[in-house]
Amino acid sequence: MLTRRAPRARSAGERPVESPAAVRRIAALLRRGTFNVVLTGAGVSTESGLPDFRSNAGLWRGIDPARVASLSAFHRDPQAFYAFYQTRLAALAGAAPNAAHRAIAGLEALGAVHLVVTQNVDGLHQRAGSRDVVEVHGNLREARCAGCGSLRPIAEMAGPLRSGTLPRCAACGGLLRPNVVLFEELLPAAAYDRAASACGTCRVLLVVGSSLAVYPVAGLPALAARRGASLVIVNREPTPLDGQAEVVVRDDAGAALSRIADEVASEPN
Ligand SMILES: [Zn+2]
Repeated sequence: MLTRRAPRARSAGERPVESPAAVRRIAALLRRGTFNVVLTGAGVSTESGLPDFRSNAGLWRGIDPARVASLSAFHRDPQAFYAFYQTRLAALAGAAPNAAHRAIAGLEALGAVHLVVTQNVDGLHQRAGSRDVVEVHGNLREARCAGCGSLRPIAEMAGPLRSGTLPRCAACGGLLRPNVVLFEELLPAAAYDRAASACGTCRVLLVVGSSLAVYPVAGLPALAARRGASLVIVNREPTPLDGQAEVVVRDDAGAALSRIADEVASEPN
């Protein structure tokens, strides 16, 4: 479904299918752009079976994850905190990149995407073959010591948790935590600065699978649009930035991105 600066309401039950015109328009923008950035959110990973814990529907055992996966919860109730991350790590162990991750990596290989900025911590973009990925919410490959700050492989946290003991730093004895941005925490400055710089200078910003509700990342598309970039939004639901986008596609990330990548690959340069 194509909407240009005038989002159209969709009746309940209507299956959104992006029009061929929207796909061609996006492909043309990506082919022409000399610096194209993709910004991805949880909607890209839900098709790999990883729930969106930051969405309203993303409850964990009936509990709001913000209550168990926040910085204050880590200090107040580490058992619940670690139980939540054990669940996430177990889900990630069985997850594989999906069509959206593969299409984005394919666009990078075609020279039509130059940088991926992701809110996801699962590493699935890299596993699909994307080479330049900025992880603005951290990652689940590493654990970080809450005491001395040293980074360790996530196995050093996951192993003790499986055997029912608290994961401790070998250097200082502090508690190990996943190297992700918890609720109530600031984003890693270097990653966020690089993401903001890229969004401020790119020609095309393709937002995929993000409701653009979590700041400061939600501010990046507005920054890109202000600086003259073409904003394209692919998301199942409307976002607050749809009105500033040149093209809006309301569809699943995998289906939409596959068609866009096929279109870019099929066109002569
Ligand atoms: Zn330590």
